[in-house]
Amino acid sequence: MILKLIIFLLVAGFVYRFFGGKIPFIDKKPLSKEEHEFGQIEATSECAHCGTYMTEDDALIYHRKAYCSNECLEASKKLK
Ligand SMILES: [Zn+2]
Repeated sequence: MILKLIIFLLVAGFVYRFFGGKIPFIDKKPLSKEEHEFGQIEATSECAHCGTYMTEDDALIYHRKAYCSNECLEASKKLK
């Protein structure tokens, strides 16, 4: 029985490392005050060009607006 427990712990450790040693939503630190002052960007952002929703990590910030991709950023630049 103890062998099963050891194998389970090894597998759990491997999975933990596979996900970068972090557990999403548990390890994620709350936004610092500095970031709030800087951009007022929510954790989920809407692309200013095409309206696609993405996480803040995926968003490209340009002139305090969030874009889902470089294409949308370039396209919105051309519109001006
Ligand atoms: Zn977009």
